[in-house]
Order: sequence, then structure tokens, then C-alpha cells
Amino acid sequence: MTALPLVFDAPKRGLPPRHLADLTADQRKEAVAALGEKSFRAAQLSHHYFSRLTVDPTEMTDIPAESREKLVSDLMPPLWTELRSVEADAGTTRKTLLRAHDGTLVESVLMRYPDRATLCISSQAGCGMACPFCATGQGGLTRNLSTAEIVDQVRRGAAAMRDGELPGGPGRLSNIVFMGMGEPLANYKRVIEAVHRICDPAPSGLGISQRSVTVSTVGLVPAIKKMTEENLQVRLAVSLHTPDDELRDTLVPVNTKWNVAEVLEAARGYADRTGRRVSIEYALIRDINDQPWRADLLGKLLRRHLGQLVHVNVIPLNPTPGSKWDASPKPVEREFVRRVNEQGVACTVRDTRGQEIAAACGQLAAEG
Ligand code: SAH
Repeated sequence: MTALPLVFDAPKRGLPPRHLADLTADQRKEAVAALGEKSFRAAQLSHHYFSRLTVDPTEMTDIPAESREKLVSDLMPPLWTELRSVEADAGTTRKTLLRAHDGTLVESVLMRYPDRATLCISSQAGCGMACPFCATGQGGLTRNLSTAEIVDQVRRGAAAMRDGELPGGPGRLSNIVFMGMGEPLANYKRVIEAVHRICDPAPSGLGISQRSVTVSTVGLVPAIKKMTEENLQVRLAVSLHTPDDELRDTLVPVNTKWNVAEVLEAARGYADRTGRRVSIEYALIRDINDQPWRADLLGKLLRRHLGQLVHVNVIPLNPTPGSKWDASPKPVEREFVRRVNEQGVACTVRDTRGQEIAAACGQLAAEG
């Protein structure tokens, strides 16, 4: 008797087929020509995708039906199926669970403020960095997202804002943070390409200002150095979480490879080249990294390495299920911020949106 295979129909995990949003404007023209279509069709398709934010062929009436079908099926394979959305903060925070062609799940979070709207996007499904306080870190890495899978999260968020899906009426998606699932600099090439697609002016890209895009990293030093050479204006955020190597080796395990001093030097290089302040992310954890001496050390270290080119974002820890850790009490938090400021370093507390829907920092785990 032959044994039946245990899994016969499981989709193979992998990147989706190539999509318009993976390609530069020139590559889009080539791809259209390769299908035997006139090259100006590339501009038409780009207009629909990047300016009108649509992937629905019935809305592309300027392209003849036969060409439309061919172009859309080849260049716009479906990327995400929205499984569900949950809202918090009176509807101004919305977390969306998305499923890719191979069943991979990721989340993105849209947050509307009085003066801006920010989308927190994922760059990988899961994450390989294994930070013990982060929900995503517990499950390991499933796979990288393609450039188009990253860009398409933004297209969806921009369409939601334009269509007034969040309270406050129609608006504009103004800010993007790579602070969802994944380590963006571990998916370097696709993330940089995505930044171009997100920021290139419409109709070549989504037209969001580079200065309004933040790439957040655990501190992959070679990748920070490489990004410094890209001539971008995006903001760099470094998840430091403590100024000393001993504790950082456990909070951000990749620290054993590139330590605090090396990470801050690389951040300095980026700040010098771009003229942009680096954000230092600091998840404040009760009795772990919230001591007054650590605040003093953090302030001194940052002033020495980064001078005025730095801003510390304190993030009250969001306890993840089963975690033994908790946020610091408010008086401890206030004292921490005061001491960092005292060293001449700008430091503020990040507001935490979407806590009750597990959409706050580090809570994205996509359990389905
Ligand atoms: N991999 C990137 C982006 C991921 S998350 C990075 O590490 O920077 C964005 C931020 O949320 C990071 O600073 C991360 O350390 C922080 N974070 C993760 N889990 C958290 C939690 N449970 N509470 C507060 N902040 C958390």
C-alpha cells in the first residue's frame, strides 16, 4: 500500500507573480511591449494604479477590453485579500488583516490624527529578529514580502483615506512607517524599491513625500550604511531599547552581531548624509530598562554619538500574550523622559493607538 502524502494541496509559500508595482516606469513599458501592447498602455495602467488607486479592470475604460484583460491579468495579479478589519479609538485606528496569494497573513494599521494620517506597514510576514517583547518576533520569519505587496498596502490605505472610510471625511494618507511586521532592512532591495514606488510622484508612484516615510530597524549596520548611499530623504528609526550592550544582547538579539556603538555610528552616518534627525525607539519596560541611570546613560551616549540629530521616542511597552513584562508606571516614565531631556536630547512619549485591538506597537502577530 502506498502511503498517501500528508499534504497534497498546501500552497507553496513564495513571492507572488510580478506586478506593476514591482517595476520602474521603464520596466513597465518593457513589460507592456512584451505583451504586444502599445507602450503608452503602461502609463495608462500606472495612472489607474498609482493615481486612481484602482485595480478593478471595469474602471479602466480608456483601455480596450481585450487589451485590458491581458494587461490586468499579466501585470496586476491579485496581491491581497482583505480578511477582516477591526477598529479602535472611535474608528480613527483601523487594523486590517490581509492574506497573500499563498495564504501568508500580514497586518497593517491605519491611524488618523487631526493633522495627518499614518499607515503602519509590514515588510515581511513574521520576523526573524526574535526580540523577546515583540509578538511578531515570537513566531519567526515566514517570508519576505515583494515590493508590490508592500506598495499595495499603501495603495489600499491611500484609497481608504480618499474614500473617507475613517471618521472625519475624505482625507489624504500622509505618512508611512515601516513599523508593522518584519525587519525592513532584512528585506533590503524590495523595501528600497517600495520606497521609490511609494514616493515617486504620481502617476509613476503614489506621491507620498520621502520625508514622511520612516524606516525602522533593529540596527542592521551594513544595511544602514548601504541605505545611506541611496540618496533618500526617508527618516531612519533605530530600535535601541537600552544604551548598554549587556541588556541589549537580550532585548534585541542581533546586538551580539552589531553592538550599540556600531549601530549609533551607522545612524550618525545616515543623519550626517541626509541632514535628518534619527529617531531612537525605546520600548520602556518596567524594571528592565527604565532605571534613572539608564536614562542618564542613554542621554549621554546619544548626545555624544548624534549631537542634535536625534529624537527619542519612548514607547510604553505593550505586553504581548504570555509575556512577563509590563509597561513602566507613569511616574517612572516621566522621570525617564526628564533625565534624557536633561542631557540635551529631545525625548517624547509615543501615543499608543489600537491597544484594545492588538494593533499597537509590537502586537501584530496575524493569528488569522
Ligand atoms: N523590525 C523593525 C520594525 C518593527 S516594529 C524594528 O525593530 O525597528 C516597530 C517598533 O515597535 C520597534 O521599535 C519595536 O521594537 C517596537 N515594539 C515591538 N514590540 C513592542 C511592544 N510589545 N511594545 C512596544 N514596542 C514594541
